[in-house]
Amino acid sequence: MLNITTRLTISRASSRFVRALKLRQNGNFTQASWGMIRNSVKNEISGKLFANQGLKCVYCERYLIGLGHEIDHFAHKGDYPQFTFTAVNLFYSCKLCNSPERKGQKNTIESLNDQYNNCTFSIVHPYYHNPDEEIIFTDQDRIYFDRINSTQLGNNTIDFFNWDDLLYTTIRSRTLVNERLNPLTSQEERTLIQLSISYKK
Ligand SMILES: [Zn+2]
Repeated sequence: MLNITTRLTISRASSRFVRALKLRQNGNFTQASWGMIRNSVKNEISGKLFANQGLKCVYCERYLIGLGHEIDHFAHKGDYPQFTFTAVNLFYSCKLCNSPERKGQKNTIESLNDQYNNCTFSIVHPYYHNPDEEIIFTDQDRIYFDRINSTQLGNNTIDFFNWDDLLYTTIRSRTLVNERLNPLTSQEERTLIQLSISYKK
């Protein structure tokens, strides 16, 4: 899992739009709110998340270029519409990590608080935790998990995604080979970000 250290900030125009939407819905976001925002706002969020995550899935760390991907609400917007636009609740995820058998709409909040940052999460949170301290691999190839040295929260996260099954293990091996054979230069990364910032879904 990526360790996200930068909080997403959105422009004044987008913030105004989101605030106005909340007012129109009598001060509360609903499950439908996300679908009601303008494409320009989604594009902005999308582009910034992409750049913030270095074009990778926040969960499995694969490059998202050429893969199905979507904006994921870490705490699902159906269960927790109040966090629909909370910046640190939004991440870019590959479709596999976000599929029903993996993260999907499963609950990630263990104890709820009105303030997002005071909630307790049942799996590692890419912004509030340091995944590298919770989820330990057996070596620097980062393919096999060290279950004994991973924390309880880290182990819960591995089980939550079922990350040590054959499919994900193969994906991690392929990613490693790819990155060793075809490392991206920072210029290529910037170009890819430019190409990828339009929200497609
Ligand atoms: Zn993923």
